[in-house]
Parts: sequence; C-alpha cells; structure tokens
Amino acid sequence: MSNLIRAGDRSSQVADVQARLRALGIAVDDNAGWFGDSTMRAVRAFQQQRGILVDGIVGPGTWGELVGASRRLGDALLYLRQPPMRGDDVALLQERLNALGFDAGRRDGIFGQATDSAVRAFQKEYGVAEDGMFGPRSHLALMGLRVDRQGTSAGLREELRRAELGGRGLGGAVVIIDPGHGGPNRGNLGADGACEADLCWRLALEVAERLAAAGATARLTRTEAEDPDNSERARRANHIGGEMFLSLHLNTYDEPTAEGSSTYYFSSSHAAQRLAEGIQGELVGLGLNNCRSHGRSYAVLKETRMPAVLIEPVFITNPDEAKKLLDREFLKAVAQAIVSGLERYYSDLG
Ligand SMILES: [Zn+2]
Repeated sequence: MSNLIRAGDRSSQVADVQARLRALGIAVDDNAGWFGDSTMRAVRAFQQQRGILVDGIVGPGTWGELVGASRRLGDALLYLRQPPMRGDDVALLQERLNALGFDAGRRDGIFGQATDSAVRAFQKEYGVAEDGMFGPRSHLALMGLRVDRQGTSAGLREELRRAELGGRGLGGAVVIIDPGHGGPNRGNLGADGACEADLCWRLALEVAERLAAAGATARLTRTEAEDPDNSERARRANHIGGEMFLSLHLNTYDEPTAEGSSTYYFSSSHAAQRLAEGIQGELVGLGLNNCRSHGRSYAVLKETRMPAVLIEPVFITNPDEAKKLLDREFLKAVAQAIVSGLERYYSDLG
C-alpha cells in the first residue's frame, strides 16, 4: 500500500477500509467503495482512537494501524523482525505473557526484543519448539489448552498453584472455560447460519481475553476441533484444577419468540449458586430477559470439583438473539457481563 486513500476516491481499497472500520465498531454510512463524508469521519475517529495524526486520509501509517487493529491473536505468525511487527494481537500477546509471569515488556503492541525473549521462555516452559515464532501451537498453549503440560517447570507450577489458591479478587484466579459442543458436534443451529458450537467458541475466547485483562488465567476444556463428552470435560477441569468453571451454551425452544438468559448450578453448591446468580444479574443488566438461575445435575456441574456454572446467555432459536450474537460488539458485552459476574462473586467474598 503506497498510495493514499482519501475523500472522493471510489475503489475496492476504500471498501476494504470501510469493512475494517466497521469490524472495529466504527459506523460508516457511505456506499461500499465510496470515500464520502461518513468514511472521512470514521477514519478520523479511528485515527483519534489510535493516537495517530488525525487527517482523515488513509496513508501507509493509518493503513498499518487498521490492519494491526483488526488482527486477532492467533491470526498471524508473530516473531521478531525489522521493522518490528505491531498490532493489537502483539499487545494482547504481551499482556497474556506478562500475566503468566514472562516479562514481555511494556504492552505497547510492538514485537521487540523483550517480547521475543518472553515468547521463547514461554515456549520452553510449555515444551513448544523454542523458535520465538508465535504461531498456532504456541497460541493453543497460551490459550490454556492442555498441550505439553508435563513440560511445565516447578517454578511455573508453583506460580499456578499460588494463583489457584489466590486470595481475594479475580487477579491470579485460574478460570476454566468450557465451550459447549465442538468439532463434528455443531450443537443447535439458528437463523442466518448461527451455530452453537462456533458461537460458544467465540464467546469463550472473548471471555478468556477479558479474564486475562483482569489478571486471571483462562484455561479451556477442549480444542476447537474436539467434542469431549461432559464427564471428560469435568475430568479435564479437575485435572487443571482451576477455581471456577464456566460452561457456555445457548438455549433452545420450539417457539422462536422465547428469549433471554439463564444460568445453571449444581443445587448442593452454594458457591455455584451465588456465582450463577451474580452472572445472571450482569446478563440481565445488558437488557436480556431474565430466565433466572436454576439448579441442575448436569455432569459438567456435578462432576467438577470447583464451583461450576452453565451459562445460556440467549436463545439460538430466537432469530433476533441469534443475529445479535453474530455481532462481535454484543459478544464482547456478553463476555464482559460474565467476567463482571465473576468479579462480583470475588468481591463479595472479601
Ligand atoms: Zn448446548
């Protein structure tokens, strides 16, 4: 990208810019491919957000920021090179590594020497080939999937144990996220191609991001391609030994108008009930219909040794709710509500 994209242009590059702005939640009302006033305002808003020169023109600098901002951790191979790679995925990588105690330096979104050293140290601890290339395998390990756990050093094990027993607050907590269904089991399907397995997976990653931002560590019960049965999910959670367990599903009903949030807990666990009710309160706070918290004896709730909650934030069978879930901003809000519910639980403990 060497030329400038600016007001008055009509091209596929303009359409690309518009799509990237929209994906970041910035409204663009111009026709696709036409750089009109609305696109100009959106570019300026983006430049303002990113703290770069606000001129409403997409030159190489703004373009680089746009690409970096739309990249999610795991999308691209990250490694040390000149000029350094930069983007929100690098920033998230730094945040996660720092949360695990690997010193990746300041969270500046620039993959420099400190980030390289932290990636290598992380790879060594987790038994991933120590090449400084942060690719899919390292990403899986970082997302808390159960790969190469034997390679974990005594120091890190101790750190994790401390985190598991950690005192007050969500900081340091290990939270297990169980995305429902997976692999060949797509779960329930809704309108517009909404698929329970995919939406639960995406929601799980959003929750994991927010947990990391809150200083907690998220661990998943499965990879994207797997569908362990419910007892196996519970067994994995017990093996990891986290403090809390969140299973993510979507509700279904024959009647498409059924809507709203429900949470479930194993009846004899008061801790789980309080957690379920806390999360329920936050979800209802988003304006979702209150379908309440209920005691259930699902295997994932009964066979897990930590307080466990199953969350169904919306009905996939409700076309409006299914459509909302396909919107990343809404997904983020749901993830934030879940994490706020956890935070509320911990602050009540204090
Ligand atoms: Zn389900």
